[in-house]
Amino acid sequence: MKKYNFNAGPSMLPREVIENTAKQILDFNGSGLSLMEISHRAKDFQPVVDEAEALIKDLLSVPEGYSVIFLGGGASLQFTQVPANLLLKKAAYLNTGTWANKAEKEAKLYGEVVEVASSKDANYTFIPKGWSVPADVDYLHITTNNTIYGTEMRQDLDVAVPLVADMSSDIMSRPVDVAKYDCIYAGAQKNMSMAGVTVVILKNDKLGKAPRELPTMMNYLTHVEKGSMFNTPPVVPIYSLLETMRWVKKQGGVEAMDKLAKQRAEIVYGEIDRNKLFRGTVAEEDRSLMNICFVMNDEYKELEKPFFDFATERGMVGIKGHRSVGGFRASCYNAQTIEGCQALVQAMKDFEAQH
Ligand SMILES: *Cc1c(COP(=O)(O)O)cnc(C)c1O
Repeated sequence: MKKYNFNAGPSMLPREVIENTAKQILDFNGSGLSLMEISHRAKDFQPVVDEAEALIKDLLSVPEGYSVIFLGGGASLQFTQVPANLLLKKAAYLNTGTWANKAEKEAKLYGEVVEVASSKDANYTFIPKGWSVPADVDYLHITTNNTIYGTEMRQDLDVAVPLVADMSSDIMSRPVDVAKYDCIYAGAQKNMSMAGVTVVILKNDKLGKAPRELPTMMNYLTHVEKGSMFNTPPVVPIYSLLETMRWVKKQGGVEAMDKLAKQRAEIVYGEIDRNKLFRGTVAEEDRSLMNICFVMNDEYKELEKPFFDFATERGMVGIKGHRSVGGFRASCYNAQTIEGCQALVQAMKDFEAQH
């Protein structure tokens, strides 16, 4: 049976990305060696890093004066690495979810942290509005898409201070005005590649200013100066990231990804709003186009498990909601197809007809 992958992360990738990566794992560039067996300093591998970096810059229109680096440690390491490098005295954090909360906690190790707003008391069902940022902070940290709760800020914020953004779960899904950011980071396993590599985009003139000694590996400059080759980078994840960037480019870039994201979301949210069995879990204006969360309406609560089983039989994979929200979550990253969304919607309709 055909499977429709709605996993929240690691998540669906374009089939051709997986196939092309598999080929290179078997035989890298016709060398007779696997991508897994070659030196990261081999003359064939450097072009992979170079092209991946160039495509990220191209797709996101990264301005002059920024570096793109590939690191290990996941987005979670960035919760620490960002303040270690960029927090000079004081930073602001917007608390919009579990990941935002974790980032904020790590920043407190390095300086004063101002929480500008939080929706924690409402189980993160909306993005706080109407807050202000102190003018004297080094940066404001935001999480553009809250993977667990299904809220998203799909527009670059207008604030007077530099932004730092965790874009792990919506990078490459829309155009971004990178000039507003001192740092953008994203674990690759949601929308760009397999797990193992984190993309970090940095404004060069903000580096090397931290009033503290940093371990060599923690210092962004180490990796910027060595072009992500200070130590052995995760070569297979970087290769599959390159394949995904080629795929995004071929589809028409982030503008095309944005359009598709809106189409997918319209299909799925449209059905959630129409279907008597289900309701969305977050404020409508903050709905994520990437992670679509929904639950059974109160009077149909007992149908949660039966719907899960019904959808699973129809080939849906990974639609179980995160334990902190319950219900269901359909993750619709770039690789998600309209067909997949329609299959989910059909299952919702057919299940409704039975009840
Ligand atoms: C998944 C996720 C993380 C954690 O990523 P790791 O690479 O596992 O550390 C952080 N932030 C957001 C927004 C995520 O979706």
